[in-house]
Amino acid sequence: MIIVVGAGVAGLAAARRLGMQGQEVSLVAPQEIQPSFGETLSERGAQVLTSLGWASCLDETVALRSQGRFSVWGGAGLRTVQDEDGQGYLLDKARLEQALLERVQKEKTVTIRQTRVLSLEHQPEGVVAQLADGSRLESSALIDCTGRAALSAGAAAERRRVDRLVAAWQVFDLPEEAEPLAASLVEAVELGWWYLSPMPGHRLMVALFSDSDLLPDGLSRDGAVWAGLLACADAARVRMESLGLDSKMAANTPKVSAAASCIVSYFVEGRILRAGDAGAAMDPLAANGVATALWSGSQAAQAALALIQGNPEPARSYEKDYLLGLVRHLNSQHALYGMEQRYQAQPFWQRRHRALD
Ligand SMILES: Cc1cc2nc3c(=O)[nH]c(=O)nc-3n(C[C@H](O)[C@H](O)[C@H](O)COP(=O)(O)OP(=O)(O)OC[C@H]3O[C@@H](n4cnc5c(N)ncnc54)[C@H](O)[C@@H]3O)c2cc1C
Repeated sequence: MIIVVGAGVAGLAAARRLGMQGQEVSLVAPQEIQPSFGETLSERGAQVLTSLGWASCLDETVALRSQGRFSVWGGAGLRTVQDEDGQGYLLDKARLEQALLERVQKEKTVTIRQTRVLSLEHQPEGVVAQLADGSRLESSALIDCTGRAALSAGAAAERRRVDRLVAAWQVFDLPEEAEPLAASLVEAVELGWWYLSPMPGHRLMVALFSDSDLLPDGLSRDGAVWAGLLACADAARVRMESLGLDSKMAANTPKVSAAASCIVSYFVEGRILRAGDAGAAMDPLAANGVATALWSGSQAAQAALALIQGNPEPARSYEKDYLLGLVRHLNSQHALYGMEQRYQAQPFWQRRHRALD
């Protein structure tokens, strides 16, 4: 039996891939209500969903087909961003997770345990998990998909946090008469960048990404502080005003969520494989996190299957491919931040313009 810990997109992809191979799986997933969060799903992520037989999950309650991406980045003008692969989707991530979970529940070989894993113990031929309901689960291998909690990342994993990025965000219902284009907007400002993303259900996600130590005091207690910061973002402000949402911002305090990049040095440790944010939680600017979580969950599942059959090669390739992908991602992210030179004197940008080590 293989244990998958966590029912975010990485854990659900891993459980599905193992289920497709007829492998017995325990998916340990506490029943938690996830906040409705607007995220972009890249075309690459949609392709992984298709490879898992899940293309139909992207219905209109879960995702909008993106009609474009706009940005104000590196200059004051509004530009359209061209993606070679295609425009992707604008998601309600909590709804996507719910839709995937409903499908995983139908897998004959997958048992769902609605509890948390407290601790893990390496065995020569497997892993033992201590669960919060008091039971112990023995497995031949375990896939850690616990997101930023990164349950398995002890000293050996050398997990390090690369920055202090947080998102101050809210989801708004759009006025009935509003008919916005299903297009996201990213706008650079002194403090970081704003992200506006239409969501299924006639809603709009609005977020300011900045470093935790740079946000003004009281922001998470006072919506007016957050709304005031929008004054510096011309395109985002105009969009909010045109939708009649600018006054609503001040009336709602934003939620603040961690969005820092955290990376482990090892994705495979004995019979434990790390996938999704538990392996590498990346800056959301590149909108790659969901695609990477789906890809790595699915790949880790294949590698775990081979590992328990005595073949370590796919696990080695998994580790190598993940690290190479990560290096490519960090380089392109560095180049993307480098394109914005208007705020060179600001700490947020200085930190991101430093050379990569
Ligand atoms: C503000 C923000 C905006 C983002 N925007 C985008 C975007 O636009 N596009 C994009 O592609 N990506 C984006 N991302 C990144 C993306 O959301 C993540 O990379 C992706 O969701 C990670 O999925 P995951 O399954 O690895 O982890 P998670 O979704 O975090 O799932 C982890 C699961 O593990 C469970 N868990 C934790 N500990 C335990 C335990 N001990 N036992 C059992 N279960 C446990 C949790 O309950 C949770 O369900 C964004 C991230 C943030 C923070």
